[in-house]
Formats: sequence, structure tokens, C-alpha cells
Amino acid sequence: MFDFLFVPLYNIDMITQEKLTILTESAKYDVSCSSSGSARKNAGGVGNGYIAGCCHSFTPDGRCVSLLKILLSNDCVYDCKYCPNRVSADVPRATATPDEICELTMDFYKRNYIEGLFLSSAVTKNPDFTMEQLLLVVKKLRTEYGFHGYIHLKGIPKADPALNRSAALYADRMSYNVELPTEKSLKLLAPQKSKESLLLPMKTLTRERAQFVEEKRKKQVSGHFLPAGQTTQMIVGATPEADGQILRLTQALYRKMQLKRVYYSSYVPVVQDSLLPDKCTGQLREHRLYQADWLLRFYGFSVEEIVTEGENLALEYDPKCAWALKNMHLFPVEINRASLEELLRVPGIGGRSAQKIIQARAYTTLTFESLVKMRVALKRAKHFITCNGKFFGAKNETAVRGLLISAENGENAVQENLFSLLPDTGAVSEKKILFSDRQNALSALTGEL
Ligand code: SF4
Repeated sequence: MFDFLFVPLYNIDMITQEKLTILTESAKYDVSCSSSGSARKNAGGVGNGYIAGCCHSFTPDGRCVSLLKILLSNDCVYDCKYCPNRVSADVPRATATPDEICELTMDFYKRNYIEGLFLSSAVTKNPDFTMEQLLLVVKKLRTEYGFHGYIHLKGIPKADPALNRSAALYADRMSYNVELPTEKSLKLLAPQKSKESLLLPMKTLTRERAQFVEEKRKKQVSGHFLPAGQTTQMIVGATPEADGQILRLTQALYRKMQLKRVYYSSYVPVVQDSLLPDKCTGQLREHRLYQADWLLRFYGFSVEEIVTEGENLALEYDPKCAWALKNMHLFPVEINRASLEELLRVPGIGGRSAQKIIQARAYTTLTFESLVKMRVALKRAKHFITCNGKFFGAKNETAVRGLLISAENGENAVQENLFSLLPDTGAVSEKKILFSDRQNALSALTGEL
């Protein structure tokens, strides 16, 4: 999802470079499609690295697509305390016209810089006006410019629902950022927003999408209505809510709104305010949330099994290890007999490995060597499994806990070394893409365990 992309800018004449810089730079803190960039200058060589708001996003089948990530305007009338674009901030302001965004998208697309657009905006003038402008962009792109690439559009809370619905007919995905997990925190840090104003459009679009799908099935309508669904983002650590509270909201969003993804953005103090912490939340907490999120979406866990409402996730090891340590009476499971559900709950066995085990054991009795070939993380898994009756794990829970922590520390050390080689661009999450291999990178991005 996150990557550095050095975008050479040649002959961009429809939108000024200054405006482009402001609008792409202002968009970079949205991790649901994180942007990054480089301040690297051309020192006489080939190309011209420049912060131009291009980022990468992954499709469900694992393809990586590059997107132009930009705000229509950063000239906000709201005053969210954590936001560099808030009305009270003294920052350069810019607003693009719908045609400027359309031209830029087409220009970048034709040059093969991007495959799609991620378009958001500050609330400029009022929600309806902003949403009308965003709608104009997506409508023009589809109907006048003939653009069929991917479009992720940020919706504007409190805008007329009819505008949202119209936009949903042109965009592939829409998202409304929940931002903060409780009404109390919203009141404190984003006084012009309320939980209802953020959740209502999501709920309405979920219902309308279901209706559209049904009508399309009956051949009563044609076209699309948010084929890639909805996502949202929460800031972690700006307010005191615990991971348990955040994940309960996440679970409700997945179950009731059928959201495709919830993104977590560890708080980074980019603005000074007495109501805000002066320290970063840290990547590890964000990473644990992604791992817990993965357990909710793919491994059949409920949030109640993972963490109590008032607690944070353990940082020493991943949430599946934490759950397994609390439930040692359920282990070890025999690899040659365990059900898919049981395998998915073993630390170190992921979804793909579990499927491979089920398939392979139909033909042969599996051994520890077989598991190594399947790339099962035996450092963790061996304490929770037997293979053909054999057990190679530690003897008691204390020993298992210690070994899991040291296994985790080893992995973290590798990650830290990689991070330390990289420049700090301010967008914390983007560093994670630069893990040593594709599997690690995907794991960091998704939380896959
Ligand atoms: S609405 Fe709030 S978060 Fe969005 S741009 Fe304006 S101040 Fe920033």
C-alpha cells in the first residue's frame, strides 16, 4: 500500500507545480492510501524525483496499483486539532478546479505514472459545496474524459446524501474517516464532527449498495455502485481509548457496515496543541492493531477473545500468540488431524499454510520437515503442535512465553535495522514497505499472521 515513487514532472501545465505540491503534501497523512515522496533533487542525472503524491495500493488479488493521491483543496473551514490543514493553521492554501484534477489524472495516466486516483478534500466553504466539487471530478472523469481506472473518493460528512449516492455511481471505493473512536474524543479534537455524521453516510451507502446489487441481479439497473466497497481510518494514540475499544468499533464496522478495511494511523504530532500528546504513538502499537484486525477478518476470532475493552494489545508478541498463551489448555493440536479452524489459531500457521497442510495431509502423514517446506514459522508453532505425535516445544507456559518474546525481538531487530537505513519522511507507516521481502512487506501492511 505504501511506497516511494519518484515521479518525474515534465510539462505539467494544467495545474501549477506549487498547487500540486501543496495538495499532494497535504494528502499524505491519510493512511488508508498512504502517500510518500522524496525531496531528492536531480543532480544532473536522469529523472527528477519529486513529492507528487503518488502511492501504491494493493488489490485483493495482490496486484500493486499506483495511485495519484491528492486533495481537491486543503483550505478547510473545520478546526480538527490534529490536522495540519485545520482552519487555524498557518499553512499555504490551494484549491484545484475539477478540470485541473481531471487533466492531471489523465496526464499522469497516459504517462503510465498511475493506474488510478485517490481523491480527498478538506471541507472548503461547506460540506455540500465540497462534495459537489468532488462529484464533478469523478463524473467528468468517467463521462467526459473516458477514464476507467480505479477511483477512491473520500466522502464529506454532513454533505447531502444525494450527492454521496451520485458519487458512488462513479467511484470504485469511498471512505469516511472515523478518525477518533468515541464521541467524547471527537468533541474534544474535532468539534465540527460527530460520530453520527461520520457513521450515517457509511450506513446509508452500505444499504444503497446492497439495494443496487439486488436490482442489478434482477437486471433492473446497470453500471456500478462502489464495486470496491468502503473503508475507514482511525487515529491511534491521539486520545486515551484503549485498543480493546478501538477493535470493538472495528468489529462493529465490519459486521454492520461490511467495510472492506479499517486502517489505523499511529498518531504523529505534526501540530502543537495542549490537547494533544507530544509523542508519537509508535509503529508497534499500530502493527499489533493490524494483526488483531487480520484475526477478526480471516481467522474467525471475535474481539472479545483478543482483548478486553479497557486494555491495549500486548506489545511483546502478536495477538495470536497472546491468545494462545491464555488458552494453553487447547494445545497442542495434532497437525495431521486438526480442523482448519484449529490450525488457523496456531501461532506461526497462517491461512496459506493451513490450507497447504489440509491439502497435503490427504496424501501423506506430515512431519516437522514437511512443515518447514511449507514455510510454517516453527519458532512459534512448535510450542502448540504435535506432528505425528511428536512434540518439540517448550515444556511449560513460562518457557513458551520467553521463547516467543525472544523470537519476536529477533524479528523486530531486523525490522528496526531496515527502518534505521531509511530517511524519516514523517509518514511513519510508509517505511514498512521496505521490508526484506514481499511476504514480510505484505505482512507489515496487512497484519497477516
Ligand atoms: S475536516 Fe478536519 S481533518 Fe479534514 S481537512 Fe479539515 S481540519 Fe483536517
